Amino acid sequence: MPRFDVLTLFPGYFEPLRSLGICRRAFASRAVQVHAWNPRDHAAGAHRSVDDRPYGGGPGMVMLAQPLAAALAAAQAARAAAGLGAAPVLLFSPAGRALQQARVRDIAQSDGVVLVCGRYEGVDQRFIERHVDEEVSLGDFVLSGGEIAALALVDAVARLQPGVLGDELSAQQDSFSDGLLDCPHYTRPPELDGLAVPPVLMSGDHARIARWRRDRMLELSWRRRPELVLALQRAGRLDRDDLRLLESLRAGPGAQPD
Ligand code: SAM
Repeated sequence: MPRFDVLTLFPGYFEPLRSLGICRRAFASRAVQVHAWNPRDHAAGAHRSVDDRPYGGGPGMVMLAQPLAAALAAAQAARAAAGLGAAPVLLFSPAGRALQQARVRDIAQSDGVVLVCGRYEGVDQRFIERHVDEEVSLGDFVLSGGEIAALALVDAVARLQPGVLGDELSAQQDSFSDGLLDCPHYTRPPELDGLAVPPVLMSGDHARIARWRRDRMLELSWRRRPELVLALQRAGRLDRDDLRLLESLRAGPGAQPD
């Protein structure tokens, strides 16, 4: 059961997790735990400063290494007191490697990680060099802080914990769980503004429905993220029917990737 120790200047970001949606269930069953550590509580001096101006000049402030290091030591000590090993330290940063479902799965099966949420212009590089094992990005855009990235990771991990989703199959059918994007979904009514639900989904024929879904996953992935399909092909994870569909997608008019 993963435990997240989050170094953050804004612990309040993590409070709503306890009362909302899927995360509420994960917290209630202790399938996931979050402990926030505020570097300000570990800062020296009367003002408990956690940032300072950048050497070399320029705009903004930089997070001081010392309060972060002290907060990290406290977090790792608390983990040890709880009988857990020292956790890998992950810093959220636009310069990090983009977060992928495979990494989410690893964390979901581990006993947790320490998450460092940057603010301002970022974190003193010496803290990163000394303490950070991995830098993770949420994408090619800039957030005001790492907290929203941390929330995204906690949510993604929580929904993989056994018993947290209403139906265990949901997570298995999600995008990326099998290396492809998810298929389209439909619910009532059977017809809406002249658009009908694909008849196969109402046929009751589970084998045909499964094949239709697999075909739509392949089709959508091919159009939007062809590299996902090619990776499965290289790994020998496409069956004969998949390969047949892929051939027709490659040959068909207008069926090249978007
Ligand atoms: N000066 C930094 C830059 O240009 O790369 C941006 C700093 S940003 C305003 C403050 C903090 O938000 C970062 O230290 C990081 O922790 C977090 N952050 C911003 N964008 C992010 C992203 N795309 N992925 C993960 N964390 C991000």
